[in-house]
This record gives sequence, C-alpha cells and structure tokens, in this order.
Amino acid sequence: MNIVLLGPPGAGKGTQAKRLEERYGLIQLSTGDMLRAAVASGSEIGQRAKAIMEAGQLVPDEVVIALIADRIDRPDAKKGFILDGFPRTTKQAEALDRMLAEKGIRLDHVIEMKVDDALLVDRISGRYTCAKCGAGYHDRNQKPKVDGVCDACGSTEFKRRADDNAETVSKRLEAYHAQTAPILPYYRAKGALKSVDGMAPIDDVTVALGAILDGAARPKAKAKPAGRAKAKPKAKRAGKAKAKAKKRPKARKKPARGKRKARPARGRRPASKAARRSRKPARRRKK
Ligand SMILES: [Zn+2]
Repeated sequence: MNIVLLGPPGAGKGTQAKRLEERYGLIQLSTGDMLRAAVASGSEIGQRAKAIMEAGQLVPDEVVIALIADRIDRPDAKKGFILDGFPRTTKQAEALDRMLAEKGIRLDHVIEMKVDDALLVDRISGRYTCAKCGAGYHDRNQKPKVDGVCDACGSTEFKRRADDNAETVSKRLEAYHAQTAPILPYYRAKGALKSVDGMAPIDDVTVALGAILDGAARPKAKAKPAGRAKAKPKAKRAGKAKAKAKKRPKARKKPARGKRKARPARGRRPASKAARRSRKPARRRKK
C-alpha cells in the first residue's frame, strides 16, 4: 500500500505517518531524511546531492526521485511506503508517477490532511511548554490550573518555540497552499485524492485515515487466504452468467421451442446449455 500524505506543516502528518508505519508495516519516506542519509552514505547519488547542496542550490527533482526509487526497492519497503512532504509541486507529482509506473507500482492513496488555516495558526502559535519538565500548554485551550505555574512540576518558567509565532505559521501555510494547491486537482483528476479533517483530535484523524486505508485493503486481505486468483475469475464468471441469463432467454426461448418440436435432437442442445447455465451457479454455491 503506497500513500502520499499531503498537509501543511503543523497538520500532524509526521505523527500520523508514524502510526500508519507501525500499523501497516509501511516505511515513511521523508525526502529530507533520505537526502541526509544519502549524503552520509557517500553513495553516488549522495555525492551528487552533497555537491549540489554545498553549492547552495536546491536538489533537483530527479535526484529526489532517484533517492525515492532506490529506497522503495529495498526489502523493508515491500509492504509499501508513506511519502510525507513530497511531492510538493505538480512537476514532482508527474515525475513521481513516471518513476512508479516504470516499476509497475501505483499510488493507492493520496490523502490530504485538511486544516482550517486560522485555527491552525491559533493552535500552533498558542502552544508553549514548561521550561523545566516539558509539559505542554496552550494560551486558550490548555492553560495551567494556576496561572503561570506548571501543573506538573510547579515551575514558573515556560518557553515557546521561536517559529511557533502567528506570523511565521501564517507564512508557512501560505507557502504550502501556493505550492501544493495545484497538486490537489492533479490527483483529484486521477481519482486518487481523499481528505481527512486534520483539525480533529489526533486519535480521530488516525481512525479516519484507517477507514480510508482499510476500505481498500480489506477486500484484498479477505480474498488472499482463499486464493485471489480463484476469487476474481469466479466473480467475473458469475457476472457473465448473470448477464447471459438476462439477455438470452428472450432470444432463445422461442426458436428453442420451435426447434424442439421439429428436431428434438438439436433442440436438446440449447435446453441442456440453459440447464448447464442454471446449474453452474448452484455448483459454485456448494463449493
Ligand atoms: Zn513543569
């Protein structure tokens, strides 16, 4: 199962990706991590990426795509992957599709974690932690019981992350929307796009993601033990038999009756075929 998770910074993609990783045996592919790992490994592509980064340039899409291609070839990726933070542009999405198509791999789900920008700004910019024990608080949603005193340890010192201010968060969101907005119609047109409410509580988001993923994974999982190859043609044959049964009786019944009277020997054939047709589903049911 191969997934792309889309969503702005702060939407909780990382947390959810980690949970999906554990639950479905997938690997999380963060392009930043992959780049760092490639550089550290000194591989050919890593050296190339390193040279580009040292020159202060953005790593080209084809290098990132090559890294992803390498990574998903490894045995631990055989159950699938979660791409988090890539693709960011339509060009990247197209390049990713080409690479996957060459490998005969398809994206099963592209899931957008939808957020309300104003709420997300409020959520992120309002958060702070106890400087001593790290307990998390929020200006509006989760104040300490006694103003200015940590519930957990009694400390009166708190800290905020420098980039957790409203202005910075708003800018990050703007950049995300400007870059990523065109990807949504791209995937929507392919019928691959789904969305979950990224503003819901973390556990609810996990449940919503699970519903999307299991919705597609369950029939496969059920069919496998019985033998997928068997199950599919059976369904198809049954469908065809039904279609025949619907179409043919009208056309056949009349001539068959006429023939039966005139030439009993031939008349038996359509009759027996019809009988076989009607017997077939019964036999299958016995199985
Ligand atoms: Zn504390």
